[in-house]
Amino acid sequence: MKNKFLIITSVLIIAVACFVFFQKSIDKTLIGPSNNSSPTKLEQNSYSKNPLKIILLIGDGMGINHTQIGRITMGGSEFNMAVDRMPIQGTVINHSYNSLNIDSAASATAWATGTSTINRFVGVDPAQRSVPNISEVLEEHGFLSGLVATSSITHATPAAHYAHVGSRYEEEEIASQLVNSNIHIALGGGKEFFNLDDSKDATFFFDLDKIPGAAFKTGRVIGLFAEDGINRGEGPSQLEMTKVALDYLHQDSPCSKFFLMSEGSQIDWASHDNDLKAMLIELEDFNATVNTVLDYASQRDDVLVVVSSDHETGGLTVLGQKDDFVYSRWNTDKHSLNQIGIYAYGPGAEAFAGKMDQTEIFTKLTSLANKETCTIN
Ligand SMILES: [Zn+2]
Repeated sequence: MKNKFLIITSVLIIAVACFVFFQKSIDKTLIGPSNNSSPTKLEQNSYSKNPLKIILLIGDGMGINHTQIGRITMGGSEFNMAVDRMPIQGTVINHSYNSLNIDSAASATAWATGTSTINRFVGVDPAQRSVPNISEVLEEHGFLSGLVATSSITHATPAAHYAHVGSRYEEEEIASQLVNSNIHIALGGGKEFFNLDDSKDATFFFDLDKIPGAAFKTGRVIGLFAEDGINRGEGPSQLEMTKVALDYLHQDSPCSKFFLMSEGSQIDWASHDNDLKAMLIELEDFNATVNTVLDYASQRDDVLVVVSSDHETGGLTVLGQKDDFVYSRWNTDKHSLNQIGIYAYGPGAEAFAGKMDQTEIFTKLTSLANKETCTIN
């Protein structure tokens, strides 16, 4: 009799524990209002020349289900996320040199240099030899380069655009390589990794509003707005920094050429934490940034915009609707092998349709970039 009681009690405890765990791992989020005004889709035009300006936007950790839950919670399934406005869409296959699992360092090295490498490596091949990145290749053709990240600017994704090191964790070395690089403007966190007494030919800024605008565009700028990553609300957003970088790189000249990479770094961090609310706040900032860039590009005929991700984080699944809510679940606190997308608009965008390896992003961007010598009549 006593044994029977114990067995029943144990089964009940296990059942309650499973129920509590299952409930905890499922997020319930309000579906966005269907009358929420949605930006219009863009049409791919026919362009007479290759792009003079290339803007690459990376949602770190953003898989296609991140976009799906963003869409549903911002305005329902009919709502246009910024990437929904982009007429060319494809699928990116991402993997490191020796594994299907990839981290941000190998991933950013793949698209920034066209080289598949080992996880943790930044801007070097599997034998740790330096490989040229987009900024270094395009500099020879008159392109200025800019970087924006909401992490430290020495974090893996931005670092692959200027650094060449055997470990993403050597952030002081990476900082020194940024100071000595060709990057014209770099905005993000990571002040603690820099020797602030030695900026070489760059100028350090610690307040976004202090960065001079149109009148001062010749000097190199490194803007550092937090010791490490930028805590939301305690420093500028991705949108604010991207606007400043865009304004700094854009010159009213037919010869103005630039490459800008802007990363929503903390979509990944919130996904590692399985924190849907925080993830949606990061995604909203990223989405607003892409919309702003698309609005800029759609007023011109010389801007190629490409949006992608490095990998998916969290194994996010969007389960279904019940009443006014959408239910979703995280399946891991690590990077998953879930699919990531690529989206493009502007001259040359057609090259990004269909399935491609992540290394092809480098090849496509560097071959599409306008290499004509520009002369002002
Ligand atoms: Zn991550």
